[in-house]
Amino acid sequence: MAELVGPRLYSCCNCRNHVCLHDDIISKAFQGKTGRAFLFSHAMNVLAGPKEDRQLMTGLHTVCDIYCRDCREVLGWKYERAYEETEKYKEGKFILEKSKIVKENW
Ligand SMILES: [Zn+2]
Repeated sequence: MAELVGPRLYSCCNCRNHVCLHDDIISKAFQGKTGRAFLFSHAMNVLAGPKEDRQLMTGLHTVCDIYCRDCREVLGWKYERAYEETEKYKEGKFILEKSKIVKENW
């Protein structure tokens, strides 16, 4: 049945470019710059900015902002490296701001 309805997608709030899948959500309990944010295992059709070290609530991380590939809206960031052992699971994962993505297809 899943094939009939297609995957549940999230799109860029600005241009409706498909950026991530509902099935790839790891956690919905993250804090973004502007409010709630989701942690995803994958993102697509996005570009990554330069890496920078950022002090977050959970410690020091190396992150890069991610942008929509089509309209260049900043959608969130990617964790490149976590320095705290307990935060290592976030490496290579993506934060997308809830306010920047919209549900598509569901
Ligand atoms: Zn866009």
